[in-house]
Amino acid sequence: MFTEMNRKVKYDKGVSCTSHLPIHEQQTTLVQAVRDHPFLIVTGETGSGKTTQLPQFLYGAGLAKHGMIGVTQPRRVATIAVAQRVAEEMNCSLGSIVGYQVRFDDCTSQGTAIKYLTDGCLLRQILADPHLTKYGIIILDEAHERSLSTDILFGLLKKLFQLQMSPDRKHPLKVVVMSATLDIEKLSGFFGNCPIITIPGRTYPVREKFCNLLGPKDIGSSAYITETVRVTLDIHLSEPAGDILVFLTGQSEIEKACNMLFQKAESIDYRYDVQDTSVEGLLILALYGSMSTEQQRNIFLPPPAGIRKCVVSTNIAATSLTIDGIRYVVDSGFVKQLNHNPRAHLDVLEVVPIAKSEAVQRAGRAGRTASGKCFRVYSKEFWDTCMPDHMIPEIKRSSLTSVILTLKCLAVHDVIRFPYLDHPEERHILEALKQLYQCGAIDRNGHVTRLGHFIVEFPLPCNLACAAIKAASLDCEDLLLPVAAMLSVENVFIRPGGSQKEKEAEERHQELSLQAGGCNDFATLWFIFQQCKGSNSPAAWCKKNSVHWRALKSAFSVEKQLQEITSRLKQFKDFPRERFDGSRNEILRQCLCAGYFTNVARRSAGRTFYTMDGHGNVVHIHPSSALYNQEAQLEWIIFHDVVVTSKIYVRTLCPVRYEWVKDLLPKLHEVNAYELSTVAREEVTEEELSKWRRKEAIKLQHEAAMEES
Ligand code: ADP
Ligand code: MG
Repeated sequence: MFTEMNRKVKYDKGVSCTSHLPIHEQQTTLVQAVRDHPFLIVTGETGSGKTTQLPQFLYGAGLAKHGMIGVTQPRRVATIAVAQRVAEEMNCSLGSIVGYQVRFDDCTSQGTAIKYLTDGCLLRQILADPHLTKYGIIILDEAHERSLSTDILFGLLKKLFQLQMSPDRKHPLKVVVMSATLDIEKLSGFFGNCPIITIPGRTYPVREKFCNLLGPKDIGSSAYITETVRVTLDIHLSEPAGDILVFLTGQSEIEKACNMLFQKAESIDYRYDVQDTSVEGLLILALYGSMSTEQQRNIFLPPPAGIRKCVVSTNIAATSLTIDGIRYVVDSGFVKQLNHNPRAHLDVLEVVPIAKSEAVQRAGRAGRTASGKCFRVYSKEFWDTCMPDHMIPEIKRSSLTSVILTLKCLAVHDVIRFPYLDHPEERHILEALKQLYQCGAIDRNGHVTRLGHFIVEFPLPCNLACAAIKAASLDCEDLLLPVAAMLSVENVFIRPGGSQKEKEAEERHQELSLQAGGCNDFATLWFIFQQCKGSNSPAAWCKKNSVHWRALKSAFSVEKQLQEITSRLKQFKDFPRERFDGSRNEILRQCLCAGYFTNVARRSAGRTFYTMDGHGNVVHIHPSSALYNQEAQLEWIIFHDVVVTSKIYVRTLCPVRYEWVKDLLPKLHEVNAYELSTVAREEVTEEELSKWRRKEAIKLQHEAAMEES
């Protein structure tokens, strides 16, 4: 809603030339260093020009002659935005010399020499081309973010270097790692003490202030959204001109905050309320992972004269993207992170306090072009007691299933002794191996099965890929692929802020799920996909039903690509073929069982369910589900994801029959993960194994005793 209003504002023309950046002084040194060394680390303050300039220097020096310059980014939006910026600077159209590739969207051509791509995409490309023969230089950017894929790429590229002289490569691959100043010594050590080049940054002082509106007790509540909005509005009214950058958590929180800001900003009387009389309006813009390219552009354009720009962003604006003109930063103190939740034994997207180092980085964004101010919504006590010093790398806190399968497909059999920059906990690796075994991707010896090779072809989490393959084997992928696509894009349901509007949207969503049968959240997604696709005016249909049109558009494109992959795989003679007699509704649910049998729960007392994965968690149905309040009629369910607040909620679910899962459930318990990994560590002896088993047995007894006491 707010974005529509914003569109009415006329922008000044964006300036596309880059003024002198700190990195320009080191152009020759940088180019020479890349020529001279297989590995190089470049570090420097955010905004110094690493991401946009270095690839251009290398291209200009003729270093793209023997293959593309690939620059990885952990985030999709940043990948596209940066490629767009560089294409503009080089005066070429996006997709020609400069292009990008993100999951489900490839904007490159034969002539592309500088390619920005997500780290996940590069990882997938290594599967098809282990020596990365199309690339001459790989730049791993944003290394300090320590995303899972970048961490794995560190290890793979290090290994690749040890095998450099493959007959497929005439010129050795060069690797540059770029990072904001964090732990670069460790990185250099990892890459054989490779040289480090530091780009000096120019920063201005930033005054930091604790607003004391949030404390330790606010963790887990959504108070941080309203308090952040309050601080932002205060700044707008009382501080001199200058743009504001607000750090919030995710898409829905950001949209909520933008709506609130918009409503409040409308009632400002600029003759009386605002301290600085040159400020005549507030332009509110959202910035998060799944935005359209066109929307992103607005973020970087200078606002019209007299208008203060306010960008409400996820962590993406902390390092990946630099917006000029920011004088004020509002730090909510929270970030959305995928964490392995030990209570739920599942990966859960959680809102958690940021690390102190991240707070410092956020504050720094206010001092890039002049001195600035950072308003911390939280208190000093929150800082002292709730915020860790450093962020924990993703590899140590999320599921490794897909990554381990990728490694296995790359013939990295020993996944335990792979060169990790930070070694993930062994039990997490074992957990991943177990899951891969359970879904049939690896065999008892830890070797990738044929099914595993099919699974890895899908840019989807393992469980969805399994379900897709099952559907294809039954020739009913038309039922499952739209669902998989809908689960792969941003949340399709609009939940606006403001209680009345929220209620209306909820009613619409309920109506949709009723029309879809009223008892299966996956079927609701399928129904929305089809209704929208079949509508004469899909955008209007979405608006009427409080559904994100942008998300649906992405889902259409994702579904098409999944369809292409499926058709290709079905041509293999050994692609599985099966039969199932039943209604379409049953077939859909059965296919889902093939992937989600690890997420099976059975109703126990009243409205609670027990998970059947051996952990026996008590879970509840999330109020957004069509099955909320229908618990009494259910027995077995499968679910897609989990939300943890004071209770564990399952969300996006459907009922299943016991017959469908009964043969799968024993798989959850039949194998000991350690046995799967023994092959991975060939030298493990039978004696060691039995020692380990004894240890495990004692641990289990211990745990049981603890639970009883
Ligand atoms: P680094 O990677 O060192 O953080 P970047 O190369 O991303 O730095 O940015 C360098 C400078 O280029 C920024 O300070 C900003 O002024 C400008 N810039 C980058 N991207 C854009 C964009 N999309 N629009 C306008 N200016 C941009
Ligand atoms: Mg950068």
